[in-house]
Amino acid sequence: MTTLTFLGAAQTVTGSKYFLETGGRRVLVDCGLFQGLKELRERNWQPLPIEPKSLDAVVVTHAHIDHTGYLPRLVKDGFKGSIFCTPGTADLCRIMLPDSGRLAEDDAREANRYGYTKHAPALPLFTEADALQTLTHLQPVGYDRPIPIDGAITLSFADAGHLLGSAFARIRLENEAGREILFSGDLGRFGRPVLPDPTTVETADVLLLESTYGDRTHEADDDGERLAGIIKTTVEGGGKLIIPAFAIGRVEEVIYWLKRLEDAHRIPIVPVYVDSPMAVHALRHYANHSRDLDPDMQTRRGQVSTFTTRRFTAVGSPQQSKEVQASSAPCIVVSASGMATGGRVLDHLKAVLPKARNTVLFVGYQAAGTRGRQLIEGAETVKIHGQLVNVAARIERIDSMSAHADADEIMRWLRGFTRPPEKTYLVHGEPPAQAALKSRIEAELGWNLHVPDYLEQVQM
Ligand SMILES: [Zn+2]
Repeated sequence: MTTLTFLGAAQTVTGSKYFLETGGRRVLVDCGLFQGLKELRERNWQPLPIEPKSLDAVVVTHAHIDHTGYLPRLVKDGFKGSIFCTPGTADLCRIMLPDSGRLAEDDAREANRYGYTKHAPALPLFTEADALQTLTHLQPVGYDRPIPIDGAITLSFADAGHLLGSAFARIRLENEAGREILFSGDLGRFGRPVLPDPTTVETADVLLLESTYGDRTHEADDDGERLAGIIKTTVEGGGKLIIPAFAIGRVEEVIYWLKRLEDAHRIPIVPVYVDSPMAVHALRHYANHSRDLDPDMQTRRGQVSTFTTRRFTAVGSPQQSKEVQASSAPCIVVSASGMATGGRVLDHLKAVLPKARNTVLFVGYQAAGTRGRQLIEGAETVKIHGQLVNVAARIERIDSMSAHADADEIMRWLRGFTRPPEKTYLVHGEPPAQAALKSRIEAELGWNLHVPDYLEQVQM
């Protein structure tokens, strides 16, 4: 018997974790952190319904924290097995996980120092040391190279086009006559710069499909026109432009566009600061993994300059970050986190939000309960580090830079299937997006779908 339990990303976009039990083997696919609403974040602190020690292996689709951020806690709580992922994902995890451990420790320390915590003392979910320990479990596996895990299942990865190293995980159940489950992870976009298109998938017996933008169509690609407009208006008005971006993934595309607009003389040349040590580090990996990038990027193989602008500064120390925050000269700051839930971008936001000449531009999905969501929904104040901050700055969003397929692109990818899966589970989406996508797939393809609940268990 094979069962699948939805331990996260069920009717929400974070905390991806799917527990697969087959032929006596126990495997967790993705191991993400919950983010956003307090009720979700609190789940990170509740014990997992499965004993980490009892897991044989973990499979990770890509490095984003909502798919990997719980790994250090899993290891801290006793997980001993291998964590299978692509080489690109392993490289990015080596940057992201220790960084998030450090951040968790810093946050706990600050919360204790400034008393903005109800917990005494506030403790980190895991430490940098836990994260470093986690890295020793990583087991890189290239795309399209099936490998057996413990005799019960065979795993293979295919490029999902969502992030460097991102993959669909195909799991073949050896004692179920070779039936296959495909975990979409996050589905990338078609025809975008930097990353290749998602791989066409033709068959799966069971599909877990992400649905983040299941109710939306991204605005058509305008060749950077709106971005150029926002930059010109802000700079001409003497303001700063802050772009909160996921340190890994979005920063590369933002820098790619800034460079492209500069090269075409479509925006003024102003200082561009990437203020996220993790993002700077990741930019280097993008340059080094150029063979995994979009064919357009490949002529500049191995050159980090693919991802720099004319007056580019990779901000290093917290002191340098403070200098950029304190300066009011027009500039562009790209900083993490992308949903303004933590990281250095919070200090930038504290500095720029109260002034009308500044602009904050969101380029990725803003989950319910995040500051990013409050800002795009027009909040007049937001709370940062326990202080209320007035919002006078212009708030903009550009969805066309999203790393997630929109509803049309999801449908395009599904049309690659030569036969419908027996069952498709919609995961990694908020309820309105999932309801819209479910009706659309039922109407256009006639597939059998289900939207699982948190902790729901199904049989294969
Ligand atoms: Zn992702």
